[in-house]
Parts: sequence; structure tokens; C-alpha cells
Amino acid sequence: MICVWCSNPQLLKYYKITVVLMCFVVPTLVPWYIWGESLWNSYFLASILRYTISLNVTWLVNSVAHMYGNRPYDKHISPRQNPLVTLGAIGEGFHNYHHTFPFDYSASEFGLNFNPTTWFIDFMCWLGLATDRKRATKQMIEARKARTGDGSA
Ligand SMILES: [Zn+2]
Repeated sequence: MICVWCSNPQLLKYYKITVVLMCFVVPTLVPWYIWGESLWNSYFLASILRYTISLNVTWLVNSVAHMYGNRPYDKHISPRQNPLVTLGAIGEGFHNYHHTFPFDYSASEFGLNFNPTTWFIDFMCWLGLATDRKRATKQMIEARKARTGDGSA
């Protein structure tokens, strides 16, 4: 998959200001302006607390999803399928699959079940902002499950 944002230096120059605006400024100003929250509360709750929670849930991918769950694709590696991490990290908990098939943009055999990250990438493709999505084929997945999986799927 080629992301227009990452591969275009013209767009990359707006990355840092976009992060500051969308991660801190907008979440602070919306509650303050729309429903009269204090700027202090808006900043610490809607911006800093939201950011802290999202970072910690994201980090569960490389901690909890390496310790708890099953390994249907490769039982010889530590990454596991973890439904709670999948829920919290909007689709990134299919970690055994992701490490077994790292080229698969969906990071899951089940792209349309609960995988908002895949939905987002598909939407970006629909808009023409991303191209060349790669997927593991059904035959590749089944062969790998039979060869190295733990038999859980
Ligand atoms: Zn990992």
C-alpha cells in the first residue's frame, strides 16, 4: 500500500502542525467553545487524558498482545491474537496474523469483522489517497495455519 501522505514531501511538511492542531488544539477548543467547559479542563481531559489513554492502549499491542491470546498462524513467535487489544486499539490486536503476514495491509484475516483501521484504509483508497493494498491469499493463510499454527482457528 502506498500512502499519499507519507510518500509526498509536499504533504509531509504539514505533518507536525497537523498533529499539534488535531491532537491538542482542536480537542481543547471544542469543549471550551461549544459547551462552555473551562480551558483548563478541556486541555487536561479532552486533550492530555485522551492522548494518554490512546497511547497506553496502543502500547498494549506490543505488551499484552505478545503475552495473552492464541497463535493460530505461527505458534513459534510471541505475538498473539487478543480480542481485547483488537477492541481497544481499533483492530490492531490481530497480532499473530500481523507478524506472520506483515505485508497484509489489513493486519487481519477478517478485514470486515471488527477492523476499523482496515475500514479507514479502504476509505482512503476509495478517496484515491492510498493505492496498491496487499493481502495474503486464502491459500497462503490456510497453508500457514496447517504448517505452524497452534490449531486454535
Ligand atoms: Zn509485535
